[in-house]
Amino acid sequence: MVRMVQDKFDYIIIGAGAAGLMLATAMDQDPFFASKRILLLEKQTTRSNDRTWSYWEKGSGIYDSILTRQWQQIKFKGANQALVKDIQPYSYKTLRGQDFYSYHYQKLEESNIVTLRHEAVLDLNESEDLVAVRTDLNSYSCSLVFNSLFTPPSIKEQERYPLIQQHFVGWFIRADKPIFQENVATFMDFSVPQKGNTRFMYVLPFSEFEGLVEYTLFSRDLLELSEYEQAIKNYISEDLGCHSFEILEKEKGSIPMTAYNFQKRNTDRICHIGSAGGWTKPSTGFTFSNSMRMTQKVIALLKAGESITKLKPHGRHQFYDTLLLDILARKNHLGRSIFEAMFKKRSPQLILAFLEERTTIWQELAIILACPKRPFLSALFKRLF
Ligand SMILES: Cc1cc2nc3c(=O)[nH]c(=O)nc-3n(C[C@H](O)[C@H](O)[C@H](O)COP(=O)(O)OP(=O)(O)OC[C@H]3O[C@@H](n4cnc5c(N)ncnc54)[C@H](O)[C@@H]3O)c2cc1C
Repeated sequence: MVRMVQDKFDYIIIGAGAAGLMLATAMDQDPFFASKRILLLEKQTTRSNDRTWSYWEKGSGIYDSILTRQWQQIKFKGANQALVKDIQPYSYKTLRGQDFYSYHYQKLEESNIVTLRHEAVLDLNESEDLVAVRTDLNSYSCSLVFNSLFTPPSIKEQERYPLIQQHFVGWFIRADKPIFQENVATFMDFSVPQKGNTRFMYVLPFSEFEGLVEYTLFSRDLLELSEYEQAIKNYISEDLGCHSFEILEKEKGSIPMTAYNFQKRNTDRICHIGSAGGWTKPSTGFTFSNSMRMTQKVIALLKAGESITKLKPHGRHQFYDTLLLDILARKNHLGRSIFEAMFKKRSPQLILAFLEERTTIWQELAIILACPKRPFLSALFKRLF
C-alpha cells in the first residue's frame, strides 16, 4: 500500500508544460522567493518532442540560445497573391519542445526552492486558508495553487462565446532537392482549397531541404487524420514541387479558440495558468509568448502582495477577438478574406503588434478599418443587441 504523505508548500504548480515551467523557473530566479517552498507536479516521467513552439519578439529573448531557427521575413499568401515582408525589428522564432523541456529541467535541477515530482494530480480541495492537492501518490497542501490542467467543462455548456478549434497536423520533412526558401517563414498560405472553412498551410523552413509543413484550420470540427495528411502531400507535390521526401517527425494539435472568460474561475487560492488560464490568444491560438508575459505579471502580483484574481490575460483586444470568433463560428469561410485584407493593407509589424496586444487604440482602429466591414458590423450589432 502507498503511504500518504502530508507535505506543506507555499505554492504548488500543477503541470510542467510551457506555463508551469516558465513560472517555476521565474520564481526560482527571483530572490523574492528565496525562502519559499514550491512544488511542481508533472504526471509525465519522460518528455518527448511533443510540439514545436513559434512566436515573435523584438530583438533578443531568453530562449535565443535554444532556438531551432529564426526568420526576419514572413510570407502571406491569399487566394492569388503572395506577399513576402520584412518584419524587423521583430523576428519569428521557433524552438523544439524537447529543447525547451531540457532547458528548464536543467535549471530546476539546481534549484533550492523548487521540487519537481512526477505524480498525477487527482483533485484539489480549496478551504479558507489552504488548498489540499491529492495526487496518485501523496497529499499536499499550500497557500496558492497555479493550475495548468486544461479542464474547463463549462466552455461547451455556455453559448455566450462560441468555441472553435485551431487544429493542425504537421510533417517535418527532408526533401531530395532544395524546395524551401530558407529565409522566409510562411505564416499563412490560404491558396489551399477552403472547402467552406478557414484553412491554410504554415511552412517553417529549417534549410533549403528541411522544413515543417503544417495544414491548419480554424473551424469547429476536427477532420479525419487522412484528410490533413492528403492536404500536406498535395501541397508538397503541387506547391513545393517535390515528389520525393522523407518524413522525419510529425506533430498534431487542437487548440481551443474562444473568448470565454477563463480567469473567472480563479480564486484567491487557485490561479489557472497557460491555456487553462486563458493565456492563449483567442483569435490565433498563440500561447507561448503570452505565457512569458503573463508569468512576469504573476511574479509582479505576488511581489506586490496583490490578489492573484487581478490577473487579466487580455485587455480590450479580447473584444476584437470575440468579434472575429463570432464571425468565424457563423461564417467559417470568411477567415481567408479577413486575413488577406489585413495583410494587403497593413504592415506586418502593425499586425504582429496587434496580435500580441501591444497596440494603441488608433492602431487598432487602423487594423479594423482594413478588414471587410460588413461581417464585423454585423458581429458587433449581434454582440451589442
Ligand atoms: C502540437 C502543438 C503545437 C503548438 N504550437 C504552438 C506555437 O507554435 N506557438 C504558440 O504560441 N502556441 C503553440 N501551441 C499552443 C500552446 O503554446 C501549447 O499548447 C502550450 O503547451 C500550452 O501550455 P500549457 O502550460 O497551458 O499546457 P501544457 O504545455 O500542455 O502543460 C500541461 C502539463 O500538465 C501535465 N499534466 C496533465 N495532466 C496532469 C495531471 N493530472 N497531473 C500532473 N500533470 C498533468 C501535462 O503532462 C503537461 O506537461 C501548440 C500546441 C500544440 C499542442
